[in-house]
Amino acid sequence: MSIIRDNKTDPNKILPMTYLWAREYYKSGVANNWTPEEVSMQRDVEQWKTPDAVTDHERKLIMLNLGFFSTAESLTANNIVLALYRHITNSECRQYLLRQAFEEAIHTDTFIYCCDSLGLDPDEIYTMYERVDIIKEKDDFVVSLTKSIFDPQFEIVDDATTQQFVKDLIGYYVIMEGIFFYAGFAMMLSLKRHKKMVGIGEQFEYIMRDESLHLAFGCDLITTIIKEYPSIWTDAFKQEVVGLIKKAVELEMAYAIEACPNGLLGITSKQFCDYVQHIADRRLERLGLEKVYNKENPFLWMSEATDLSKEKNFFETRVTEYQSGGSLDWD
Ligand code: FE
Ligand code: MN
Repeated sequence: MSIIRDNKTDPNKILPMTYLWAREYYKSGVANNWTPEEVSMQRDVEQWKTPDAVTDHERKLIMLNLGFFSTAESLTANNIVLALYRHITNSECRQYLLRQAFEEAIHTDTFIYCCDSLGLDPDEIYTMYERVDIIKEKDDFVVSLTKSIFDPQFEIVDDATTQQFVKDLIGYYVIMEGIFFYAGFAMMLSLKRHKKMVGIGEQFEYIMRDESLHLAFGCDLITTIIKEYPSIWTDAFKQEVVGLIKKAVELEMAYAIEACPNGLLGITSKQFCDYVQHIADRRLERLGLEKVYNKENPFLWMSEATDLSKEKNFFETRVTEYQSGGSLDWD
């Protein structure tokens, strides 16, 4: 019995379970269930219509983040359904992948809801991943790591193909969901802290909470594969993985600087870069690799937003919502 490369596994038999952690992620995902329509966009709509309420720079960065996330969610969902699901035959992992795929559908729905309620031009948003260089570079980088496993002929049979598969997992779980999402999260949550576009901000908070589970599942999946096939985890492969993460950090810092050349609401673009480096170190450590950047977390409030217990988040959401009509503050 192993998590991949196992042709004796019957994917239709979920009991008894081997990987109980995968089951736990499934249950946490279900406990976090939300839909975008639960979040009122009324104040956002008013602010969006009022020129002074949101500056031109803030509008530009909101659009950039909507452009990046709207298509990144689909890329992630495609990778789960079209590439990962075929190779991960273990039932409890598959059950989680189905849950995650549903969450990606919810996230996709969030951006439909934002476009609809703010009256944004979908053509502008959904073509950014082809038009806007810094978004295209991030997406192309992830896609380049994962091309081979999309090949219908691809099978995981030996160490080299296992490494290719792990590179896909690094590409989506660690780099896309674990690094490329985080400068955007920090920007959108900073706006929310200043009571700007609080509906979108709250939706980004929910997405971030989901993504932190996706990332954690992905890291457990990767470390389980490494435990079961230790011969893939060579020094050369480790170095390759570190190199990929460093490249991702460069792209994400470029994205942050492009989005906030002169900072945002008192936050400098350097602080966004420090934050990206800080979270990259956390991802490296999660994979059992040494950290590279040694940057303090400049946004402690970000970890509070992710690390709060899920049920508490939900509880507070409801209570605060009733108290202050749509705005909530978890910090
Ligand atoms: Fe997502
Ligand atoms: Mn995700």
